[in-house]
Amino acid sequence: MSTIEYLKEAEDVSIGIEQDVTDAVHDILSEVNERGDDALHEYTERFDDVELEEFRVSETEIENATDELTDSEKETIDKTIENVRAFHTEQREHISGFEKEFEEGVRLGQRVVPVESVGTYVPGGRHPLVAAPAMSIVPATVAGVDRIVTCAPPQADGGIQPAQLYAMDRSGADEIYSIGGAQAIAAMAYGTESVPSVAKVTGPGNVFVTEAKRQVFGHVGIDFLAGPSEVLILTDETADVDLVATDLLAQAEHDPNSRPILVSTDRDIAEATIETFDEQATQLRTEDVARECWENNGEVLVAETMSDAVDVANEYAIEHLQVMIDEPRSIVDDLHNYGSLFLGDYSPVVFGDKAVGTNHSLPTLEVARYSSGITVNTYLKVLTHQEATEEGAARIAPWAAKICELEGTHAHQLSAEARLRDDISPKYGP
Ligand code: NAD
Repeated sequence: MSTIEYLKEAEDVSIGIEQDVTDAVHDILSEVNERGDDALHEYTERFDDVELEEFRVSETEIENATDELTDSEKETIDKTIENVRAFHTEQREHISGFEKEFEEGVRLGQRVVPVESVGTYVPGGRHPLVAAPAMSIVPATVAGVDRIVTCAPPQADGGIQPAQLYAMDRSGADEIYSIGGAQAIAAMAYGTESVPSVAKVTGPGNVFVTEAKRQVFGHVGIDFLAGPSEVLILTDETADVDLVATDLLAQAEHDPNSRPILVSTDRDIAEATIETFDEQATQLRTEDVARECWENNGEVLVAETMSDAVDVANEYAIEHLQVMIDEPRSIVDDLHNYGSLFLGDYSPVVFGDKAVGTNHSLPTLEVARYSSGITVNTYLKVLTHQEATEEGAARIAPWAAKICELEGTHAHQLSAEARLRDDISPKYGP
């Protein structure tokens, strides 16, 4: 059994979504489903405080946003997009179709094909995240998705923030809409007069976005639940306390609902981090959110052994798992529940979030127990097929018919036995 002591506990350790959010989102989805654009206009006014005539972003608006950025800003965004494309292209190359004869006269196979249309949500409430478009849109382009729709919340002037809009366009979105929150998810899932419905909705967001995705699942596909950001930093006695505190703050500033967690095998490091977090927070322009988040959701745990610490990390199934111990690779094989893993002092979460090319759209709320983050697979379907010859069918049919008899599925039994007739003319290749 793990021996763990909490130096700081979260006020509310429940990882579920509150009932009032569930109810509010249910209303938003029903209204958008029934009243389309009218409801979108009302919610955009209520939650984003702007009145919009058109939700679709025009080519001119994209050009204007592009002109507002300096060459160096554009190059920086382009570089992130390139890195994300390179990583996901490599991923695509490792997923393949196949076909082979599993027994004489029975060929089985699979084809990998893109989902036809997707809607990607790009978060932009507190911070218009500029790397986020690359994370959701680029893997869809690499997969070969035919129509990529994307939504981000309008800013105070009604438009999408220029750097974010530039990134959405450059990442390869076909249609861009200025709509935020649960209403954006509803619009892409159900379709409205101005927004087309899609087959699958992806991308991270706040609790309203996450709950909306949960509720539309089934009507459309979703990637997984990617709510407010989380980090668990695992340290031993060698950790650099300044770096640990900085990295905890980087998650805490995302959202008051984010979860920054420290698990250390060294009590002194854990205590010093609590103090340093407090000192560093005062320097932050985002201090208010970071402190609120830390007060409510911050956790500091001391583990007796590294094996206990690893158990805790696996139980938390956290979005970002950062390992800042003497030999980070020594425990990699023991870690199996996380969205993305960051190894050593020189690999902070911010690198994966913004720059290197791995995906930052990752599962939260313990969803990493059963799902990975966005990969090129998110936008692909694996379709299987089978073809039997007359000889193959002669062997399979009696056996399949026997199973049907045991089940009482009579029509199925007849369907199998019908393949034993000798007057069928074969319609397969030589
Ligand atoms: P957001 O775009 O997700 O949400 C903003 C929208 O929420 C607004 O446009 C508004 O329409 C809606 N909204 C706000 N208050 C509301 C209310 N009271 N009722 C109904 N709707 C309301 O932007 P955000 O709020 O800044 O959140 C972004 C989130 O995305 C952060 O929590 C961040 O941690 C998370 N994130 C997660 C990942 C991941 O992979 N898990 C990656 C990036 C970002």
